[in-house]
Amino acid sequence: MIEMQDVWKTYPDGSHALKGISVKVDQSDFLYVVGPSGAGKSTFMKLIYREERPTKGTIFVNGFNLEKLKQRKIPFVRRNIGVIFQDFRLLPKLTVYENVAFAMEVIEAPKKLIKKRTLEVLELVRLKDKINSLPTQLSGGEQQRVAIARAIVNSPSVIVADEPTGNLDPDTSWGIMKLMEEINFRGTTIIMATHNKEIVNTMRKRVLAIESGRLVRDEVRGDYGYED
Ligand code: ADP
Ligand code: ADP
Repeated sequence: MIEMQDVWKTYPDGSHALKGISVKVDQSDFLYVVGPSGAGKSTFMKLIYREERPTKGTIFVNGFNLEKLKQRKIPFVRRNIGVIFQDFRLLPKLTVYENVAFAMEVIEAPKKLIKKRTLEVLELVRLKDKINSLPTQLSGGEQQRVAIARAIVNSPSVIVADEPTGNLDPDTSWGIMKLMEEINFRGTTIIMATHNKEIVNTMRKRVLAIESGRLVRDEVRGDYGYED
């Protein structure tokens, strides 16, 4: 359901971030993207959620060629991809409830559905008792759970997570991974870039390794493979 064919990305300053990536990710896959800093992991993720465009090559998401998308199809493809960041990126002046509901408001979901679904996903991430808190009143792990709720609220087929545990302590990180696994069990594809060796080596999912913009490893039950 996600496919890259010979994808290259050179930034305007001449940095060659990706040099010919070809990969296929099936629905319900759980995929770790590993590799040294600067290898191209974030660029790989950004191409999937269309934050960046490839210099060359083709990317398909759910059968849509991202380079040939009609303008009016872009929101439709985008809402099918939930994104989670290392630094959470919550809206600081909105409550937990509002941060999540907002993602449904922007796609103009019916009001009744917004309330029902927002409360449902906040229950799934175990934050129903915090719905009226502001992000600053939450721990890092709680903030990331809000971000997860926001990412899944529109029922995307894929979650792209760029170092989601990068700012969290080990226990909290495991809580986040259990949630990601739960979401994956419900059929959502997870693509997660990480430097967390322990998590990758314990969970034994598919591992892609990128080095200097090239795919150097693609293993079904892979390991982290680096010492950092
Ligand atoms: P990683 O996520 O593995 O650390 P990135 O995808 O962030 O790697 O970066 C890959 C390469 O592209 C690096 O050399 C980085 O400096 C460069 N790069 C990333 N983003 C930009 C950008 N917006 N402009 C120019 N160069 C960039
Ligand atoms: P009910 O009418 O079913 O009792 P409420 O309207 O009290 O439901 O909403 C349930 C919870 O969701 C409340 O705690 C409320 O603060 C919160 N909530 C509902 N809508 C919003 C909203 N638009 N913004 C922030 N919080 C909301």
